[in-house]
Amino acid sequence: MSESVYIGLGSNLGNREESLLWALQSLRRIDAVAVRRTSALYDSAPVGPAQPRFLNAVVELECGLSPQRLLGILKHIEGELGRRKGERWGPRPIDLDILLWEGRVVAEPVLQVPHLELHRRRFALEPLAELAGDCVHPVLGSTIRALLAQLEPQDVRRLASDAWPLAQLERIAS
Ligand code: AMP
Repeated sequence: MSESVYIGLGSNLGNREESLLWALQSLRRIDAVAVRRTSALYDSAPVGPAQPRFLNAVVELECGLSPQRLLGILKHIEGELGRRKGERWGPRPIDLDILLWEGRVVAEPVLQVPHLELHRRRFALEPLAELAGDCVHPVLGSTIRALLAQLEPQDVRRLASDAWPLAQLERIAS
């Protein structure tokens, strides 16, 4: 059975847009996963220590895998793009998070879904609200749109490039 899953993508090292496209392309290649929709791109200030600004987006997947299996694949994709182990807060070419999984809550030492920081992060909530504004956060009991409305302002700017993924993916694939 396929379920809707929302993945947050972030990059703040190297060519950020190319990294996001590369990750998107990698997601499309996973068996039992289909990329359904993508948000616009967002340019956001880093949370935590000073480091370059991030480029963020959210993608909606139809996923027939378990959350644990998908997490393993996301880590592999991150590793392929050169993220070094243990650099939790450092600059990174790609960071992939499972933000929300339709109808599921996961509370394990290595995986929590919905993502524990989702409701505090405008760079995740804003793009997610484009795709799943009416979805209810299964732990907090509010819609994504309502959580976004409650959040304080943060330095997150939506970029105008609505068409970024689909047009460019064909170019990269060819
Ligand atoms: P970070 O460096 O902040 O991206 O954290 C990566 C680690 O967070 C991974 O190794 C996962 O074990 C853990 N983790 C827990 N929940 C999630 C989630 N929903 N999505 C991605 N990683 C998660």
